[in-house]
Amino acid sequence: MKKQFAVIGLGRFGGSICKSLSEQGMEVLAIDTNEDKVNEYATIATHAVIADTTDENTLKSLGIRNFDHVIVAIGDNIQSSILTTLMLVELGVNHITVKAQNDYHEKVLNKIGAHKVVHPERDMGVRIAHNIISKNVLDYLELSDEYSIVELIAGKTVHGQSLIDLDIRAKYGCNVMAIKRGEEINVSPAATEYLMNGDIIIVIGADKDINRMEHDLF
Ligand code: ATP
Ligand code: ATP
Ligand code: CA
Repeated sequence: MKKQFAVIGLGRFGGSICKSLSEQGMEVLAIDTNEDKVNEYATIATHAVIADTTDENTLKSLGIRNFDHVIVAIGDNIQSSILTTLMLVELGVNHITVKAQNDYHEKVLNKIGAHKVVHPERDMGVRIAHNIISKNVLDYLELSDEYSIVELIAGKTVHGQSLIDLDIRAKYGCNVMAIKRGEEINVSPAATEYLMNGDIIIVIGADKDINRMEHDLF
């Protein structure tokens, strides 16, 4: 059976989630208090309803408990976001993901039992900052305080050299997970694989090691 999702709040963030889930063939119930928003998503989502999710009876009558995953994407109205999340937790929804507006909001959401709290503006800011600082960093994914995955563009300095030549793992403690060349992607490349100017390499490692490697080689 198809997984069933409900997205509460159809702003830019919730709307984008709703669209992407629908495009991937998921069943999506789109919910918003704003009639225009609901109309906008009526043709995109499986169902779209006008409802205020801070009302417990409304949530019950939507059968929200039966959804596999509920995403709360109410932004500016922190009180509504918290109240909605609290009721979803109390109704026993299996998976609840909530968008936080700031660090205090995030703290409260975690305390009341949200299963996952996301902070897209902050996280995107961090990723873009890395990209701005180093033009070789295309993307950056923080795994923990110390470890990350980065996408780097290979330049002239590494052109024609193999992973053995560069000795990346031994020298920097980083692992090359994949090499992208045009449309092709080589996942877990052999040590004899060589790099070319313009390749995109995906590296996992400790931040300090990645920085060292980036400084020396890219
Ligand atoms: P984004 O940045 O993703 O565009 P936002 O952070 O500006 O969104 P808002 O516009 O404040 O977030 O909220 C997103 C949507 O949530 C709005 O369309 C709003 O109508 C809806 N919303 C707010 N409160 C409720 C509620 N109690 N029940 C259902 N929907 C709600
Ligand atoms: P290791 O003991 O580290 O696995 P090895 O002596 O078995 O290395 P190879 O696996 O042939 O030898 O690799 C030689 C060197 O090439 C490694 O020490 C490492 O520095 C580098 N290397 C090979 N593959 C990668 C990779 N995917 N990412 C980063 N460096 C690599
Ligand atoms: Ca916003």
